[in-house]
Amino acid sequence: MTTSAATGSGLVSVEAARDAVLGAIAGPTAAESVFLSEALGRIVAEDVVSTTALPPWDNSAMDGYAIRAADTQGASEASPRRLELIGEVRAGEAPANEVRRGTAMRIATGAPIPAGADSVVQVELTTPIDSAGTPGERGRDATGPLPAACDVHAAIKPGAAIRRAGSDLAAGVRILAPGDILTPAAITLAAGAGVQQLLVHAKPRIHVLATGDEVRSPNQRLGPAGIPDANGPGLAALVEGTGGAAYALGIAKDRLEDVEGRLCAALAGGADAIIVSGGVSVGPYDVVKVAFEKVGRIDLWRVAVQPGKPFAFGVADRPDGGRALLFGLPGNPVSSFVTFELFVRPAIRALAGHRRERLLRQRDRGVLLEPVSKSHGRRAFIRAVAERDDEGSPVRDAVGRVRVRLAGGGAGQGSHVLSALVVADALAVVPEAHDTLDAGSEVELWWLDPH
Ligand code: AMP
Ligand code: MG
Repeated sequence: MTTSAATGSGLVSVEAARDAVLGAIAGPTAAESVFLSEALGRIVAEDVVSTTALPPWDNSAMDGYAIRAADTQGASEASPRRLELIGEVRAGEAPANEVRRGTAMRIATGAPIPAGADSVVQVELTTPIDSAGTPGERGRDATGPLPAACDVHAAIKPGAAIRRAGSDLAAGVRILAPGDILTPAAITLAAGAGVQQLLVHAKPRIHVLATGDEVRSPNQRLGPAGIPDANGPGLAALVEGTGGAAYALGIAKDRLEDVEGRLCAALAGGADAIIVSGGVSVGPYDVVKVAFEKVGRIDLWRVAVQPGKPFAFGVADRPDGGRALLFGLPGNPVSSFVTFELFVRPAIRALAGHRRERLLRQRDRGVLLEPVSKSHGRRAFIRAVAERDDEGSPVRDAVGRVRVRLAGGGAGQGSHVLSALVVADALAVVPEAHDTLDAGSEVELWWLDPH
């Protein structure tokens, strides 16, 4: 047990608990190769290198004409220069001709610059001329049959409207590094640089077990004393939303053999972590801690946090030689949710390969619009709702603090109140030292996923 981290109350501080959890993680999961189509949200495990320069060759930034800039010197609106058109370059086509003095080729955006040309004049600065010498519509778009010639109405600088080979990216350079997140932008970059497959960390395998004689699965009658299982589906969704792969272990009775048997099945199944909800408190049928000790060991129990005080954490060896983290979350769904946020989420992100500085939620400064009260000596994580403007952005006060109310009002803060949990935007932190905070007090905010 982590006693050095214990507070005066015998409870472990939030930081010490989180440090113990993160300290038990040897490193991220092994790397696996995936196609870009399945890479969204995954974390890069090994340098990704461009297989082509970008652009691969000089190409046109405009629809227009590939020309020699010197041919347009002195050109103006009133006194254009006429160039003979000797062909065109379409996107996806290699140029067939060379541009010589006094000539031009029609060119599409993204098509390779033909030899001899040193610039592109955009179609808007030209007038097409037919074979009889009759001018067409000035600056009309470059569709239709190729004109015989074009008049250029401006002096074009050498290099104009040419995107140079390699100006975006050289071939063979690192474009993504370990720990980078495969966002849509990163996937676009990798695909554009010719990458098809890459190494990412395997999704952490997180097994989820609900416990409680009163907890019922959807196909069971509630009867006189049953409640629907909120935590099984809720925790699985939190796991998936955090980048883990969730495996359901069902609902165990409050019996040691049942809980232990399911833990053993998860260990045999290669779990990176097992999350158990309920049965971790001090009731006569709270068997989860004993079960943890049977399959592994407990590193800490009882944290100075509200809600979520009975939180327990340990580790167990797997039959395959690996190791699983054991999380014992209190059964009240709000306590489960908050302790997942504080301790499980950073662990899943560390397992998934996120960098150290990306493990925690984004923080902000908030100001309370209503007073709050909480238990003595524990750090409270209040479910808070941000005031929003018409466009949905959080409203800040004159010193930049987000204006927040209590989700569900004061009565919404009970650890069993699901209706208030669903409207929360953020967790507002009330430090251990305060039993109450007045309206107008500043609080630290931890933003939750937008909803
Ligand atoms: P426990 O942590 O087992 O003492 O449970 C605390 C409270 O949470 C009790 O009211 C339980 O009925 C409730 N609870 C436990 N597990 C679940 C669950 N999976 N879904 C909904 N409520 C639960
Ligand atoms: Mg229980």
